[in-house]
Amino acid sequence: MAGRNHLFVPGPTNSPHAVLSAMHVPMEDHRSPIFPDLLKPILEDLKKIFRTETGQTFVFPATGTAGWEVALTNLLNPGDKVLIYRFGQFGHLWADMARKLGFDVELHEIEWGKGIPLDHLEARLKQDAAHEIKAVLATHNETSTGVTSDIGGVRKALDAAKHPAQLYVDGVSSIASIEFRFDDWGVDAAVSGSQKGFMLPAGAAILAFSQKALAIAETTTYPRAFFSLKDQINTNKDGYTPYTPSTPMLHGLRKAIDLLLEEGLDNIHARHHRLAEGVRRAVAVWGLKTCAQDGFHSDTVTAIVVPADKDARQVIGTAFHKYNLSLGAGLSEVAGKVFRIGHLGDLNEVSLLGALAGVEMALLDSGIDIKPGSGVGAAVEYYRNAL
Ligand SMILES: *Cc1c(COP(=O)(O)O)cnc(C)c1O
Repeated sequence: MAGRNHLFVPGPTNSPHAVLSAMHVPMEDHRSPIFPDLLKPILEDLKKIFRTETGQTFVFPATGTAGWEVALTNLLNPGDKVLIYRFGQFGHLWADMARKLGFDVELHEIEWGKGIPLDHLEARLKQDAAHEIKAVLATHNETSTGVTSDIGGVRKALDAAKHPAQLYVDGVSSIASIEFRFDDWGVDAAVSGSQKGFMLPAGAAILAFSQKALAIAETTTYPRAFFSLKDQINTNKDGYTPYTPSTPMLHGLRKAIDLLLEEGLDNIHARHHRLAEGVRRAVAVWGLKTCAQDGFHSDTVTAIVVPADKDARQVIGTAFHKYNLSLGAGLSEVAGKVFRIGHLGDLNEVSLLGALAGVEMALLDSGIDIKPGSGVGAAVEYYRNAL
């Protein structure tokens, strides 16, 4: 098919050309005397992206999923109780991992489309007078439903309950795209991955840990090997890694961090909000609904619900085969019910308008009655005035 594929899944996202070029380097010796000149500034500058001055950042040759495991296995003792709300596929998988690793998972089911219920959380923490809950696992941006939760609010709930539980946050599809404040929110472990807001290929788990968490990791006894923070700390301090790093990935990360800091986090957040708002306006004039309910809309991904008698898989299939447009599928409970537009990473208004046009064609081809150009028109009006 002529022309490029239009990639609008919520990860992997589009990589800027400058990032791809930066990765296109000869292999090198990761034990050379100059390797620390690459790694040390990356770890330092990542703190700016997480908005932490006191925390410590890490890069593992792995994916976001591994980041969950790093947090759980380094910061807990075998059998510890953790609290998690499930309102999407990623929260589901994290809870499932915690259970498989033998932790005592207290799981609360929340309707898919909503986020963390802060009142419930505060009440539950207050009730836990014996402090049996050792960690709260919070999915900041639930990529399967396009729902963003209030992590500052989670911190307030912990403080209001005077509960010492650690706070682990899955920021895989939020960090480097929407507001994330590691220090201000008192996060103990923040998990991200390379292929979303960092605009790289998959293959790096990018993490931050608080000093409190690192002190806890000194005393906990859960078995850990490849994912040992201690091994990273011991080698990172001299600018090296415990095992062979992906050096092209690190060169790409260097460039991606430069681009992020050059644009500025506040500008990046504003851009993602603007892009998302145009999509939401398009969805509204199509007469469709987002999976996310009011107050929970994500600025990095929108999950759009198709009419009950239609199958979202048809929309996604048509978009791909006929129009060379890749949309995100509905996962698990919402399979067939929603399709997703990823609007994070290296992206601007005009490219997103192209995706909205493709969505309109795929919707019409799938027998979903919308007015051609209506969603694109709404987004066009919004973007013109918002820019
Ligand atoms: C993509 C994603 C993950 C999983 O990351 P992988 O890199 O696929 O392991 C976890 N959580 C959220 C919220 C995600 O969007």
